[in-house]
Amino acid sequence: MTETFTGNFTQQEPIPDEGIAAAMAVLRHGRLHRYNTAPGELAEAALLEEEFAAQVGAKYCLAVASGGAAMTTALRACGVGPGDRVLSNAFTLAPVPGAIAAVGAQPVFVEVTWDLTIDLDDLAAKLPQARVLLLSHMRGHICDMDRLMALCDRAGVTVIEDCAHTMGASWNGVPSGRHGRMGCYSTQTYKHVNSGEGGLLVSDDAEAMARAIVLSGSYMLYARHRAAPPPEVFAELRYHTPNISSRMDNLRAAILRPQLRALPAQAARWNDRYRALEAGLRDVPGLRLIERPAAEGFVASSFQFLLPDWDADAVREVLARCAARGVELKWFGAAEPLAFTSRYDSWRYAPTAPLPQTDRVLAGIIDLRLPLTFSLADCALIARIIRAQVGAVWQGRAAAE
Ligand SMILES: *Cc1c(COP(=O)(O)O)cnc(C)c1O
Repeated sequence: MTETFTGNFTQQEPIPDEGIAAAMAVLRHGRLHRYNTAPGELAEAALLEEEFAAQVGAKYCLAVASGGAAMTTALRACGVGPGDRVLSNAFTLAPVPGAIAAVGAQPVFVEVTWDLTIDLDDLAAKLPQARVLLLSHMRGHICDMDRLMALCDRAGVTVIEDCAHTMGASWNGVPSGRHGRMGCYSTQTYKHVNSGEGGLLVSDDAEAMARAIVLSGSYMLYARHRAAPPPEVFAELRYHTPNISSRMDNLRAAILRPQLRALPAQAARWNDRYRALEAGLRDVPGLRLIERPAAEGFVASSFQFLLPDWDADAVREVLARCAARGVELKWFGAAEPLAFTSRYDSWRYAPTAPLPQTDRVLAGIIDLRLPLTFSLADCALIARIIRAQVGAVWQGRAAAE
């Protein structure tokens, strides 16, 4: 029997009814701009910031226009400017080196491990080259954050976390985004909460957050925020900090607030799907699963496995066979950038020496989305298809040798 999967890998769930009702209220009163409030009214954007700060245990939170805007704002707020060098993961998505380029800085890429996290030995060796690390928890994989922070603290390197895939996740019980000086999140459609576009920035650092708020385009209205440092922190820096408009509006904030309340329950549903897929892919010859450390509280909105040291033609054959049966796999090893995937050597505005370990790992990374519109039975079916196709290609190659 040849099974085929007919689901859609990019179809998210609808916005919850509570979010739709809140959005309709904003549309009806028309005050979409976050600083356009009626007397006594609290803006949805300000309430969102207050609630997210409480959710992750941060003193301060700022809502912005995108995850990319959160990262560029964080870099600027931490003093990164033209000509500076910023450490970052070689395995990440294009908005991360893009944020570094946006402030005129140059990425220094760090190798990735077979666990898909930043290589801490390579990081340790490269720490003297920069004062800031933009750490990307790419695809939700979290490195040993205790060791990373100890290394960076000792070297005086500021850590900014890219939590686009780790909203709701944790390391040793500490929410992702709360280890470094600033944590950046995305609320774009393919992440853990969905407002189309949007971003959140959290920090306990009063000065960095005050700068971030002015940078985001607060004008002199920062006192209307509810998760901001006190006005005296702004007294001097407001004269020195440019306004680079990247605010979030009340419509998006209204949609997001109920989704944030639902995040822990949604995370559990994602992880059920992840475990179903993982169980179906155990003990496939030639296929390596990524074991998740006990300290990592992950939110699996996507799934990765490795075909380590397979040749490119064999990987392409697996992808083609799975695609023919409705299973859309992404490959980070492709030479040419495609859809959302690209490699560090495609980012030619940020040239770097080759990274041999990263090349080897990327050549084997296969990635698929796990939208919550998939049932557990869908995940089991997807696993059966991948299992059969990887098995067929693996056996075919072995027979040919
Ligand atoms: C999506 C993403 C971002 C940026 O988010 P946007 O809201 O799309 O700007 C940053 N880092 C990673 C790893 C991402 O996947």
